[in-house]
Amino acid sequence: MKSVGILGASGSIGKSALDVIDLHSDRFALTFVSVHTNLKVLEEIVSRFCLSHVLVTDDKALQEARRRFPHIHVYSADDMSEFLRGFPVDIVLNAIVGTAGLVPSMTLASCGRDIALANKESLVCAGELMMEAAKRSGSRIFPVDSEHSAIWQCLNASPGQRPEKLYLTASGGAFRDMNREEIARADARRALCHPNWSMGSKITIDSATLINKGLEVMEACWLFDMTPEEVEVLIHRQSIIHSMVQFEDGSIIAQLGTPDMRLPISYALSYPHRLKNDYPRADLLSVGTLEFSSVDHRRFPGLSLCVEALKEGGDRPMVLNVANEWMVEKYLEGKAGFYDITDWIGRSMDRIGKIEQPSLQELLERKEVVRDFLEEYFV
Ligand code: NDP
Ligand code: MG
Repeated sequence: MKSVGILGASGSIGKSALDVIDLHSDRFALTFVSVHTNLKVLEEIVSRFCLSHVLVTDDKALQEARRRFPHIHVYSADDMSEFLRGFPVDIVLNAIVGTAGLVPSMTLASCGRDIALANKESLVCAGELMMEAAKRSGSRIFPVDSEHSAIWQCLNASPGQRPEKLYLTASGGAFRDMNREEIARADARRALCHPNWSMGSKITIDSATLINKGLEVMEACWLFDMTPEEVEVLIHRQSIIHSMVQFEDGSIIAQLGTPDMRLPISYALSYPHRLKNDYPRADLLSVGTLEFSSVDHRRFPGLSLCVEALKEGGDRPMVLNVANEWMVEKYLEGKAGFYDITDWIGRSMDRIGKIEQPSLQELLERKEVVRDFLEEYFV
């Protein structure tokens, strides 16, 4: 029996993870969850899994949760780091969205916990600090992002062999078949219609801008110790090949499956074992053709912005990430256009002075600096 904690249990990944744990209740025991605001989902989880420890990270929701659940331990955002260090658990899934996931990831990596990592933003913002902390403490980071899970599975097929190249596949997002003028006019409602995956709103917008793929290039470089030049992005509209590894003999190994996040979540929780399930199988005959094409950087400038931030290093990926989060929020609210997102990420990176070797504290302080900049200048 493996004990599991889930941070961000009320989100899209969180709910898929609860399904996996439910299906394999003979192997996994859920011992705690966090939610930010969604107490309705929390209530269901508490009764479905008989939980006695939960975290509620939003202050207002916390007060209400303490009233609603007087019989269990309800911890706050301020308690989170101490709780994660002290609570005995075999593996923690970090499925919080955005930079809010950074401190929990760093805490888990510093105290030697196994982490199933969905929150790519933490590696993007603090990849170097996090990988160093994990190395020092013995913490293992198991990727949940489907592309990285695919690469990890391909690498596990040839243990100890350094890959020559990684191919990250991308569906192309909601606007893949539209021209630049149409994309410029399209609102968030349209961007939220992802052709293949059902996900939270922030990552669905990130898929439309291809920023998501850029964040994934950064994530892949940290997880698998690759340079940006060794990672190639391919548009693969069927989302059947989740990513590929090319070895030094020229062989390419791919991982295929349906676009269903329960598969990578299962593998991260059960590694090195594969668990039987009855989820729908990929029907290759009905898929028929697997297509690949290159990224159109004119329509989707987000990917090169990310690669640039990664190459520049220091606090640049954090600045990019915070600016992206802020701009995505504005786009979702209808207060920014689609290309404002990448334009204002570029401006933030140009105008905000660089810190070369930021500490975690300095990285966290960048949040306010970037937000202040955007609040002052973005109109
Ligand atoms: P969702 O928006 O569906 O869920 C986000 C979760 O984070 C919710 O539980 C939410 O709580 C919680 N949350 C939001 N803000 C905060 C905060 N400030 N502090 C603490 N918790 C917070 O996101 P997804 O599940 O789609 O994505 C989660 C992560 O996984 C992201 O980093 C994403 O990039 C990554 N990922 C997601 C994939 C997917 O298929 N969805 C695929 C690959 C990676 P509440 O709802 O209670 O307010
Ligand atoms: Mg992904």
